[in-house]
Amino acid sequence: MEDITLEQAVELLLQHSPQPQKEAVPLTEALGRIVAEDIRASFDNPPFDRSPLDGYALIAADTKGATAAKPARLRLAGEECAGDFYADRVHPGEAVRIMTGGAMPQGTDAVIRQEDVTVAGEEVRIPYPLRHHENYCFAGEDIRRGAVLVTAGETITAARLAVLASQGVASVPVWRRPRVAVASTGDELVMPGTPLTPGKIYNSNLFLVAGRLRELGCDVAVMGVVPDEAEPAARRLVEKSAWADLLLTTGGVSVGKKDIMHDVVTYMGAERLFQGVQMKPGYPAIGYRLKAAMGLALSGNPFAAYATFELIARPLLAKLAGRRETALPRRRAVLLDAFPKESRGRRFVRAFYEEGRVRLPEQHASGSLFSAAGCNAFVDIPPGTGKLEKGAEVDVVLL
Ligand code: AMP
Ligand code: MG
Repeated sequence: MEDITLEQAVELLLQHSPQPQKEAVPLTEALGRIVAEDIRASFDNPPFDRSPLDGYALIAADTKGATAAKPARLRLAGEECAGDFYADRVHPGEAVRIMTGGAMPQGTDAVIRQEDVTVAGEEVRIPYPLRHHENYCFAGEDIRRGAVLVTAGETITAARLAVLASQGVASVPVWRRPRVAVASTGDELVMPGTPLTPGKIYNSNLFLVAGRLRELGCDVAVMGVVPDEAEPAARRLVEKSAWADLLLTTGGVSVGKKDIMHDVVTYMGAERLFQGVQMKPGYPAIGYRLKAAMGLALSGNPFAAYATFELIARPLLAKLAGRRETALPRRRAVLLDAFPKESRGRRFVRAFYEEGRVRLPEQHASGSLFSAAGCNAFVDIPPGTGKLEKGAEVDVVLL
C-alpha cells in the first residue's frame, strides 16, 4: 500500500465512517452533549406579565400628582406571592401586595417598591407618581415563542441547560457519544500498581488515549493490553467491534518482530484504508474498517501516539460526535525558539502557541511525552525544510 498524506488519511476515515446517530437523553444527563437538532421555544418566557420586585401592584393613573406630603391613598385589596395567582380584577383606587415573580393582577400596570410606601391598616400610601409599566416585566421578555434556544451542533453548557429547563424541555435530542474501544499492544507493558521488572515499562499510552477520549466526550471501553500475538489480539478486537464505532490501538505497527498489527488487521478480515502516513512522528499508522466499526492502529511511541491521535483520530471522532467542524484550527505564527533539525519529510513538532507566537520545548524525541504535557499545538513543518531559525514564520495546528 502506498503512503498517503495526513489529509488523505483523514479524508478516507471521514468518507468510510458511518454517520453519527441521534438519541434522546433526559435533561439531567444532557450536560456536555452535542445537540442533534435545533430546539425552539414553545412558549413565551416568562409566561405571564410579572413583578420584578417586592411591592404593591397598582394602576399608575391612580398615583398622578402624588407627593410625600400628599400621597395617593389606595385600598389594599389583597396579596399575591410568587406562584400564587390573583384571580380578581383590580379596580381604580386599589392596590395588591405582590412579591417578586408574582403575576401582575388584571387591571394593574405598575409596581411600587415596598420600602417606598406606608401602610396603615387597609390603606397604602404612595408618595410619588408611577409611570404606566413602571417596574413591570412583560411576558416573553426573556424568550419569545419560536426562538431557537440551542442550535444543532452546539454543546450543552450549564447556561444552555438552564435555558432548556426554563422552557420545560425534559428530553434533549443529542448525538450519541462515539464509542471507542482502546487497547495497547506490547509484552513490555505493565499497568501502574504492578512492580516493574527488568525490561518492562509502564503503559502510559492507554491512559493518554483513554483520557483524551473522555475529555472529548467519548464513551470509552478500555480493553487493556492485548498480547503481542496476532490471532488472540485480533479475536479480542473483533469481539469489541460490534459495540465500537472505533477500535483504537497503540503499538505494534512498525517493522519489528512483534509488530503484529499488520497481521491483526488481516486476521480480523478488515478492509485496510491506509497504511503509512507521510508524517513524523507516527508514520506507520494503519487505518481500517471492520463492518460498521472504524479502526486505527497508531504507533506505540508515546509522542507519536499522541500526535497521531490528535491529527488523525480527532477529526474522525468529531464527525462521529456530530460536530460540524472536524478540522483542527490552524494559525500562522512566529517561532520564538529555533528548531535545529532539518525536516526531509513532513514533521509535527510539539509546541506552545500564544497570540501568534509559538515556543518549543527542549525535548522532541518521539519516545518522550513529558515535554508534550504543557503543549497546546503542533508546528507543521513541510517536507524539505531546513533548520528553522528563531523568528521564522510557521504553520501551527491548535489542539
Ligand atoms: P511499538 O510501536 O510497539 O514498536 O512501540 C514503540 C515504542 O513505544 C517502544 O519503545 C515501546 O516500548 C513504546 N510503547 C509502546 N506502547 C506503549 C505504551 N502503551 N505505553 C508506553 N510506551 C509504549
Ligand atoms: Mg510493541
